Amino acid sequence: MAYFDKLFGNDGTKNRIAAAIKNGTLPHAFLISGPQGSGKKTLSLEIAAALNCQGDGRDLPCHRCKNCMRIYSNNFTDISYLRKPKDKATIGVEAVRTFRSDMFLSSTESGYKIYVIEDAHTLTPNAQNALLKVLEEPPNNVIILLLCEETDKILSTIKSRTQAISMQRFSKEELLDYILKHSENAASLYRKDKDKLLGVIQTADGNIGRVLKLSDENALIENSADREITEQIILSFKRGKSYEEIHTAMSNLPSDRTEYIKITEQLITAVRDLITLKYDENAELLFFISRGHAKSVSSDFSARRLMGIFDILTNAITDADRNVSLSVLSADVEAKIKLL
Ligand SMILES: [Zn+2]
Repeated sequence: MAYFDKLFGNDGTKNRIAAAIKNGTLPHAFLISGPQGSGKKTLSLEIAAALNCQGDGRDLPCHRCKNCMRIYSNNFTDISYLRKPKDKATIGVEAVRTFRSDMFLSSTESGYKIYVIEDAHTLTPNAQNALLKVLEEPPNNVIILLLCEETDKILSTIKSRTQAISMQRFSKEELLDYILKHSENAASLYRKDKDKLLGVIQTADGNIGRVLKLSDENALIENSADREITEQIILSFKRGKSYEEIHTAMSNLPSDRTEYIKITEQLITAVRDLITLKYDENAELLFFISRGHAKSVSSDFSARRLMGIFDILTNAITDADRNVSLSVLSADVEAKIKLL
């Protein structure tokens, strides 16, 4: 017997919802919160499938019956989505009204109609107010799922009319366990070079969606290459390195602007690790995997020099966002580091 098998972890939530479905006591509206990649959409599909599953009920959902297949191939007409338009910052009241009126159209293909509002934290207060009545008295067999990254922009009147589900965050050990079981590439990399895989998990910051993405073989390679470039650049920033050495390390930065910014941000994270280690040797590290190694790198720099590097890199990111030519930008960073 398995409940909501496609969703990793979150056992408390799974058991609670499965029991409610079996007892016929499922609330008709949920507020599901958690960062991007934490499984909110997977949970929505699992709930939709469980409610409409035609299997024998041993596994919920079964993932094999016609309805389950249609839901997972995006071919199920009784799931509707309301999403924030890409070019807008919010979901407005008009969009909610249209969405809401659709809930009252009676025809259902199967047992339940599922209405999913993604990015619910971007609903304007008016748009949220437009939902209150339908949340209180939804039409029969309608389930409303509000997905949001954080709940502080959600009105308390919405919160009191929905059941809250907060997606679980995962420890590095849990993510490692998951990725080793679900990705062949990750498992083989782990056998060859344990630290490289731990680096991927470090980068994912407790986010299961990101671990899955990074577990793709190419992403793994790219990620570890990025880490190597970052470390080489940091080492070239030590006092006494020649201008040539700094320039050689910096020339490994990618020529693509987005990638350039990504690695520069990673550099800033690494420098931040080195600075915090100066003040708290047990500080949580966001870039370095081995504390011993990070401490030894940190001890090669003065706190003042690290702060200087931090400022130079932070300014570089601002300039990179302003479309300054990347080669000019790198030359500027190199010169400023040499002057520190
Ligand atoms: Zn099924």
